[in-house]
Amino acid sequence: MLYQSERKLIVTILKKMVDVGLVINTSGNVSIKINDYFLITPSGASYDNLSPADILVMDHNKQIIEGKLLPSSETDLHYSLYENRSDIKAIVHTHSLYATAVSSITDELPAIHYQIIDLGGPVPVAPYETFGSPELAAAVVDKIADKNAVLMQNHGAVTVGDNLDIALQRSILLEWIASLYLISLHSGQPSFIDNKKLKNAVEQKQKYLTLRQDKKKQS
Ligand SMILES: [Zn+2]
Repeated sequence: MLYQSERKLIVTILKKMVDVGLVINTSGNVSIKINDYFLITPSGASYDNLSPADILVMDHNKQIIEGKLLPSSETDLHYSLYENRSDIKAIVHTHSLYATAVSSITDELPAIHYQIIDLGGPVPVAPYETFGSPELAAAVVDKIADKNAVLMQNHGAVTVGDNLDIALQRSILLEWIASLYLISLHSGQPSFIDNKKLKNAVEQKQKYLTLRQDKKKQS
């Protein structure tokens, strides 16, 4: 069986997604890209008893290399994102509650907290298209540009990263920022952080990353 450790990682990540409340029943799917292949979750599988052997290995022509189950209905979406952004190595798609709620009320999740910089700034909303359709894949690719997250109108959310842990962290962060946005909207007139101040936050983050690395080297 190809990619045993990556299969195990996908199953572990799926269980985490259930534990933190990002997915219910069989909603959501994840994938990892390795060279010309990608590993993806099967369609309609229950995450509670999914095993590493259930994960599919597919090639760049969307042919199944290994796996007996039907690949995720959003295989086109994953495939299109990998094809259009070579830096993307992992994708998490969920129907998480707050992100999906925000997708139905706005064209963009604004910068209500500086941590949105980890998602690449304000998060665009791709217009509604039928799940599993090439139109949906095209709409998400169109909106993601160089960002790390996109909301899908009346559907859910996609986050990307150069590994699956980072894509999951972004998914958890997106859900938290979406919840913060909704709570703020219900409580009054929220303020937002402008692009210049967001850029300052990016620089500040970089500064602390460097300081942490220097400190590590010294110890
Ligand atoms: Zn979906």
